[in-house]
Amino acid sequence: MVRPPFDNSYARLPDRFFARVVPTPVPAPRLIRVNAPLAADLGLDPEWLAGEEGVQVLAGNRVLETSEPIATAYAGHQFGNFVPQLGDGRAILLGELVDRRGIRRDVQLKGAGRTPYSRGGDGRAAVGPVLREYLVSETMHALGIPTTRALAAVTTGDQVRRDTMLPGAVLARVASSHIRVGTFQFFASRGDVEGVRTLADHVIARHYPDAAQAERPYRALLESVIRAQAELIAQWLLVGFIHGVMNTDNSSVAGETIDYGPCAFMDEYDPQAVFSSIDSYGRYAYSNQPAIAEWNLVRLAECLLPLLADDTKAGAAEANEALDLFAPAFERAYQAGLRRKLGLLTERDGDIELAQGLLLAMATNMADFTNTFRRLSEDDPSVRSLFTDPAAFDEWAARWRQRLEEEQSDPAARRAAMLAANPAFIPRNHRVEAVIRAAVDRDDFAPFEELLAVLSRPFDSQPGFEHYQDPPAAHERVHATFCGT
Ligand code: AMP
Ligand code: MG
Repeated sequence: MVRPPFDNSYARLPDRFFARVVPTPVPAPRLIRVNAPLAADLGLDPEWLAGEEGVQVLAGNRVLETSEPIATAYAGHQFGNFVPQLGDGRAILLGELVDRRGIRRDVQLKGAGRTPYSRGGDGRAAVGPVLREYLVSETMHALGIPTTRALAAVTTGDQVRRDTMLPGAVLARVASSHIRVGTFQFFASRGDVEGVRTLADHVIARHYPDAAQAERPYRALLESVIRAQAELIAQWLLVGFIHGVMNTDNSSVAGETIDYGPCAFMDEYDPQAVFSSIDSYGRYAYSNQPAIAEWNLVRLAECLLPLLADDTKAGAAEANEALDLFAPAFERAYQAGLRRKLGLLTERDGDIELAQGLLLAMATNMADFTNTFRRLSEDDPSVRSLFTDPAAFDEWAARWRQRLEEEQSDPAARRAAMLAANPAFIPRNHRVEAVIRAAVDRDDFAPFEELLAVLSRPFDSQPGFEHYQDPPAAHERVHATFCGT
């Protein structure tokens, strides 16, 4: 086997950007799973990765020659409060690999032991959150939404202390980078303008090469991140996803979904839905996500002020002009997505009101978000029974049919388009919890494998697996997901 040829551009940045660390070995690593297609994309041999040496590498027990492990420094606003020093407290970047498409990607071990940024933490991860991140991030990818990926997961043979003792695990995660809004804040809050500039140049070269050609590259960088985040959040809303901890340190400048903690897909549509047990004020509720993303981007803009113009006032004017792009970019992506969900192939006045009419009826009638759109796509008459008052659906559906008739689209094409926009399967919380219980209580990973297989094809009807479409029964409902870090 040719060992992975890591090439580590981040480790070549100035010393103050990171700490060199080595993963702390674990007693008895055991493979949970290797993501073979992703491994192959990265030029890794999946069989080697799942074999003895690969598992040692995935557990952090062995560091390959070309790897230069580091923990990166960052800061961040957590629930609105600024913390000047966070950093990778339990994640270690092994290095970067250039994938088959020529895209440079980070390979990181989450739960690989303490680093200089661990503060009071143990540097470890429990198996539950590792399985949740694996399932949810891979679903996100299958849904076509930018995200970090799960390359592999192993158990460590150690226990970690949380509310109780839990089996420890390590997630090998792949991202186009792990650079966060909080990474910029780390330097900006120290008055380190050179650090901000070096980081900005790195991000431009890595993620937004077009910005380098622009008349004002840093303004173009800011605008690129704003657009990427606006489009990302629109995609989240369109599948009913709630990130749960949209702190600036969990906000990727590459526009990927990152740091899956107490996240969830909603069952019945509720714009105020919050799952995270640590979000007691609903700061990161479903419908607040666009506003919070914009708030995070204002923080990024503040960091870039000295690069945008020679004086603060002119810089602020530049920043504000760039930030004005957020709302229209979000609306454009969100509205286009709503049209797709409703099978509207052309744009007409009143389309958005029509979509909002359905959402309002769903919210008032506690209709399941995913199943409503899916059954609508399938022309399944039982969709009305998802509403506490089915007449509310009927009233809306008459308007929708009228609108479809005006469009005169081919019904089969319309249906196919809707089936490709409205997933049948999402990682429902109660299913994810059941998978975690089986792994923790019975060391049984078969339910994880089965759920993952279903979720890897979220838009396909999968006969025999329809039960995964069911919302939770009353006793299965999960009211809060815990950070469980
Ligand atoms: P998160 O909530 O996972 O995004 O983490 C927020 C911050 O806490 C980051 O700096 C993490 O690296 C750090 N952190 C979270 N859990 C641990 C842990 N078990 N050990 C050390 N640091 C941690
Ligand atoms: Mg984080």
